[in-house]
Amino acid sequence: QASRPAILEVNHLDKSFSGVHAVNDISLRIHKGETVGIIGPNGSGKSTTINMISGLFNPDSGEIVFEGTHIEHFRQTAVSDVGIARTFQNGRVFGSMSVDENLEMGLHKVMTASRPWKGLQDYPVVKWASLLGELCLSLIPGPKSRKEMAGVKDGVDQSVKSFGDHLEPMRQHQTYSLSYANKRRTEIGRAMIAEPHLLCLDEPTAGMNQTETTEVMEQLLELKAKGHTMLLVEHKMDFVMALCDWLVVMDNGSIIAEGLPADVRRNPKVINAYLGG
Ligand code: ADP
Ligand code: MG
Repeated sequence: QASRPAILEVNHLDKSFSGVHAVNDISLRIHKGETVGIIGPNGSGKSTTINMISGLFNPDSGEIVFEGTHIEHFRQTAVSDVGIARTFQNGRVFGSMSVDENLEMGLHKVMTASRPWKGLQDYPVVKWASLLGELCLSLIPGPKSRKEMAGVKDGVDQSVKSFGDHLEPMRQHQTYSLSYANKRRTEIGRAMIAEPHLLCLDEPTAGMNQTETTEVMEQLLELKAKGHTMLLVEHKMDFVMALCDWLVVMDNGSIIAEGLPADVRRNPKVINAYLGG
């Protein structure tokens, strides 16, 4: 791995759930522009690791340092404020909202930045109330909100464009009606629209067929080519081989191997864990 300073440094993370030691002494580094993959069998602690990094829950012990800031005790909103975005293993789009509306949601922090209730966003109910308030306000074309909304519209236009012609014809469609791959694109777009410094993806191709998997892979290759930094949890070997600069292999909550993808693939321990030897 490169000798430049890491933007994300994870040291000795531990997490148990009522007796299940889900993550056991995990340490990893991600450098700017790098794609790091975490692979491993089901239940090996991959999602738990990404969930701690993105602040969904905090570790029992250990450190998470992002661009020099300790974030291991941060809540999810604070983690997204420092520039870490994520997508979920089961895919999360707001099905009754259009593609454009879902993308706008990714900018809601930008949209609410000038609002006095911003400090209350940590409280989920208030957060949603403020978001609803924003959406209503956005319908009233006051001089200030018109300018803000123009910025939001530009952001959404650009995001849609970044997906070639995949999302363009779907912009006003409710997202529940989209293909798996387009739902994923919408979710990735929503995560990327506020220009995070790190994108965490938890099994972005879960439940997809080969064509959809390839499409999402191409999307991520494009993000990589643009210099984005990614943490990718995945268990499809071909997918991680194509995308990752560095691979970390988990089994039973621990890291059993790490290295360049080509080396990891040949590691007998990894073959063993995967083939259930
Ligand atoms: P992976 O993503 O590699 O499939 P997970 O991180 O989801 O693995 O799970 C690791 C272990 O932790 C599993 O035994 C799982 O059942 C347990 N686990 C994960 N999340 C929770 C939770 N919120 N509550 C209880 N147990 C959990
Ligand atoms: Mg998982």
